[in-house]
Amino acid sequence: LQERLPVINADDELGHLACTFNQMLERIEKSFARLKQFTADAAHELRTPLTAIQSIGEVSLQENKDAAYYRNVIGSMLEENHRLTQLVDSLLFLSRADCERIKVSKEPFSLFSFIEKTVELIQPLAEEKNQTILLEGDRRLNLTADKNLLREALLNILDNAIKYSGGGTTIRVRFERIRHVTQISVTDQGPGIPVDQQEKIFERFYRVDKARSREIGGIGLGLAIARWTVRAQGGNIRVISQPEAGSTFIIELPGES
Ligand code: ADP
Repeated sequence: LQERLPVINADDELGHLACTFNQMLERIEKSFARLKQFTADAAHELRTPLTAIQSIGEVSLQENKDAAYYRNVIGSMLEENHRLTQLVDSLLFLSRADCERIKVSKEPFSLFSFIEKTVELIQPLAEEKNQTILLEGDRRLNLTADKNLLREALLNILDNAIKYSGGGTTIRVRFERIRHVTQISVTDQGPGIPVDQQEKIFERFYRVDKARSREIGGIGLGLAIARWTVRAQGGNIRVISQPEAGSTFIIELPGES
């Protein structure tokens, strides 16, 4: 820890300067601590699929089995590789975002057809779990926003709603304009999120139940990316949820900017 400047009299000019300097130091230290944690988490997350690929390969090399067995082994390796690719893609996105290398380019479009097309992309995952996705809202609404960034946010939220909710449940996607704000909300019938963790889930690598999320295929970066893509357009994203009573993720964007 860096040493702080002594504050002899907090009311005089020198005292003010010393206080400001100490506060700056504290913020820099916190940033470094976050960076270190992020690097450690990223390394750990990269290590997990790599270790799995290595051990699956080693074990199968010691066996003398039929083609079906090795096909199965290759399948497991590809699954781990897919996870690795997703993780690296997410890390690259966040690193570009941090370096301000992602351009926001807004254009006007029909909100309903945008949501309909986005839902279509993820529909097969919902069908696998026999889940229904319902769209509700004013079909005439237009929005001016960055479609690619918004699609990224909505896909991450829909993916979570599907992943964390049980089979046969319903996911509602509502879109409406309230004064000058356009809201897109996704409500699921999943396990909900404890109130004290509702802010934390937007942090990088934070997961409510790490083991469960990993088992389901989560890597803990989806909501951090979703929040970034929405905030970059002047909007925000938040969650309303009660444990055991489902969650509603709300994307808010400036209406017609
Ligand atoms: P992950 O890849 O683990 O899903 P996210 O950043 O997308 O990472 O989400 C962070 C955590 O928030 C998840 O691990 C999960 O614990 C929780 N979470 C996100 N969406 C939901 C949801 N719809 N229902 C319940 N929990 C959720």
